[in-house]
This record gives sequence, C-alpha cells and structure tokens, in this order.
Amino acid sequence: MTKVALFPGSFDPLTNGHLDTIERAAKLFDQLVIAVATNTSKKSLFSATEKTDLIQQAVSHLANVSVIEHTSGLTVDLAKKIGADAMIRGLRNLQDFEYETNIAAMNKTQDKEIETVFLMAAEKHRFLSSSLIKEVAFFGGDISELVPYHVNAAVKSKYAGD
Ligand code: ADP
Repeated sequence: MTKVALFPGSFDPLTNGHLDTIERAAKLFDQLVIAVATNTSKKSLFSATEKTDLIQQAVSHLANVSVIEHTSGLTVDLAKKIGADAMIRGLRNLQDFEYETNIAAMNKTQDKEIETVFLMAAEKHRFLSSSLIKEVAFFGGDISELVPYHVNAAVKSKYAGD
C-alpha cells in the first residue's frame, strides 16, 4: 500500500533545515506532499507562489516529492483530501515540542485517524529558522551556508528591493 505524507509549513523561505527534513521524510514515505501555507497569520516575505517555486527547485532531485499551495481550510482536511497517512513536522527544541504537541493533539480532535510524525532536526540545523534567516539577511549578513543557493539569491533580491 502506498504511504503518503503531508509536510505543511510556512517555508518563508525554505532553509537547509527544512530541506533536510524533506529529504529524510521522502525516504520514509512513498510520496511526500509539501503544502505551502498561504493562510497563516505570519506576515510573509515571499508570496505563496514564490515559496512554492523555490521549494520546487530545491526538491527537483526527489522523484516522490511534490509541492502544493494550501490556500484555505484546516490542514487535516487537506491531509484527508490528498489521502495522507501522516503529517510531518520538524522538532528543533523544547519550544517546538510544546507548540507542535499542542497542534498534533488539536489535529487529533479534528481527525482521529491522522498521525503526526516528528523528525528531530539535524544537530547542525537546530538553530535555523526562516525568521532568523530573514533577520540576518535584512542586515546584510551571509546566509549562503544556511539556505539553498537559489533561495539565497531570492532573499538577497527581495532586500535589494527587486
Ligand atoms: P510553520 O509556520 O508551519 O511552523 P515553518 O516553515 O516555520 O512553518 O516550519 C515548518 C516545519 O519545519 C515545522 O515543523 C518546523 O518545526 C520545521 N522546521 C523549521 N526549521 C527547521 C529546521 N531548521 N530543521 C528541521 N525542521 C525545521
């Protein structure tokens, strides 16, 4: 039976930490669908389409990974719609743990069939977040080791006012 996982997130923008989680999840499931949130309360630097394009370029080497935009509605409903067996989330630290366990429990109240599978962030990516990336880049810092090459270029061009 084909096992499908949904990896939802803001990805504003995709970091090497996200990409590591994607590559590892893609090995565990037959199909991995990345859902780019468009309805989060977070104000984003990139549009949903831009974020989707950046992820698509980064995962082109992974044949079983696809990227979609999640425009409205509950994530559990999207998971059901695409036939996902599980949702993937990454855990970096205790803060993530507290936040993510609440979300997973809330999701269970909406759909008791859905499982959340947590992947621990790689040691070298524990400190990495999209918001820190943006802050460092905004002040002219070097993020080239922390995001894929084309994401670095896209962030630079945003802050250059392109
Ligand atoms: P959200 O707004 O949904 O939390 P994010 O883009 O910030 O969206 O994160 C999406 C998922 O990726 C979350 O589960 C988050 O914990 C995970 N994640 C974020 N940064 C990293 C990282 N450096 N390493 C591993 N997982 C990460």
